[in-house]
Amino acid sequence: PTAELQRLDAAHHMHPFTTGDALNKKGARVITKAKGVYLTDSEGIEILDGMAGLWCVNIGYGREEMAEAAARQIRELTYYNTFFQTTHVPAIALAAKLAELAPGDLNHVFFAGSGSEANDTNLRMVRTYWAQKGQPERNIVIARKNGYHGSTMGGGSLGGMAPIHSQGGLPIPNIHHIGQPHWYAEGGDMSPEDFGVMRAQELEQAILDHGPERVAAYIGEAVQGAGGVIIPPSTYWPEIQRICKKYDILLIVDEVITGFGRTGNWFACETFGITPDIITIAKGLSSGYQPIGGSIVSDRVADVINACEFNHGYTYSGHPVAAAVALENLRILEEEKVLDHVRDVAAPYLKKKWEALADHPLVGEAKICGMMGSIALTPDKTSRAKFASEEGTVGLICRERCFANSLVMRHVGDRMIISPPLVITPDEIDILIERATKSLDECLAAVKEQGLY
Ligand code: PLP
Repeated sequence: PTAELQRLDAAHHMHPFTTGDALNKKGARVITKAKGVYLTDSEGIEILDGMAGLWCVNIGYGREEMAEAAARQIRELTYYNTFFQTTHVPAIALAAKLAELAPGDLNHVFFAGSGSEANDTNLRMVRTYWAQKGQPERNIVIARKNGYHGSTMGGGSLGGMAPIHSQGGLPIPNIHHIGQPHWYAEGGDMSPEDFGVMRAQELEQAILDHGPERVAAYIGEAVQGAGGVIIPPSTYWPEIQRICKKYDILLIVDEVITGFGRTGNWFACETFGITPDIITIAKGLSSGYQPIGGSIVSDRVADVINACEFNHGYTYSGHPVAAAVALENLRILEEEKVLDHVRDVAAPYLKKKWEALADHPLVGEAKICGMMGSIALTPDKTSRAKFASEEGTVGLICRERCFANSLVMRHVGDRMIISPPLVITPDEIDILIERATKSLDECLAAVKEQGLY
């Protein structure tokens, strides 16, 4: 019974980003199965997953071919490592396939088990790169406030999230954070384009403050996801790339969310017209069917790293079952032309419907990039004001209304975000929007009742 599962869960299972108190008061929703874009819970209720799990189930849930690829690989070679001059077919094939898909000279892959681990790899790799080039003092990495790069000590340090930094003594030394390109919240009277350039130029200022001879790399998410789906103004990334080139700073773009079709291209770097030195990948690489991540690395960086012994790696780097499943995922994305579906059907349809939510009285802006969107909740559309309540109170009400209406939509503070499976159809998008609108109406009524509107 659900109540017994919830009791055991609260008693023994420690959840990420959840308080025990919340689990004790109201048990976690128990998800038992999923197919396509729908989850089913232990009460048999079907829920449309507007978040593709945690931004990862790009091809949708429950694909038989993926189960078969895993089973085949478990029978053939369950596990072997890629340390000490050994390798195996799935890791070779996946690395070669990623080199083919990635832009520019990003021809090399270092595998990890997750996005956090991959960003830890990046941190060590860029420092090793400069040390190998005789510049070990070049070890500062510049990142962004409100960025998210994972939960390990390295990933949590590269991220710029106050609640993560306030626990466990993060960030580790030599990581510096600059402002985020969040025009809606911080742009004031500036045009988004000017604001984008201004925020990018904070990178130049930080490089000059520390001295270019101390700065190893800059890292940013192509589109900030966990920070609230913050789509940078079009001027932002080209200016960042220009500055990195000018001072010979390595550019790392974290595409853990945006990779594998989320913005309509294989990588969002193509969407924003930039070519980084390293791309972080995970999530959509296997559509979440197996835990796998990695760093796609340029010739320039790989040549230096490969010339030494890089004393870094994970037991599951290039895990054969995870790699085989990721390859099958890439085959499905390619052969079923999922990126064409995103570009020609799903993204334009969703954009039209999503941006129309800006007319709702509770919504200050509704923005979308490919298949990841956000809406800002506000008591006053014209001034973009915040609610008088603690940040996140209204977002939580809205998320709970969505859940009650059988839609998973996440909240980040008082922003609501979506990132549905890429295979979602127009009919399913209609259902998503219908449920989101109903939830916004109910949230508005609740907010009015509490005197917050
Ligand atoms: N980087 C980004 C941009 C992410 O959104 C995430 C996870 O949400 C990570 C890194 C960390 O990935 P993982 O949770 O697989 O460690």
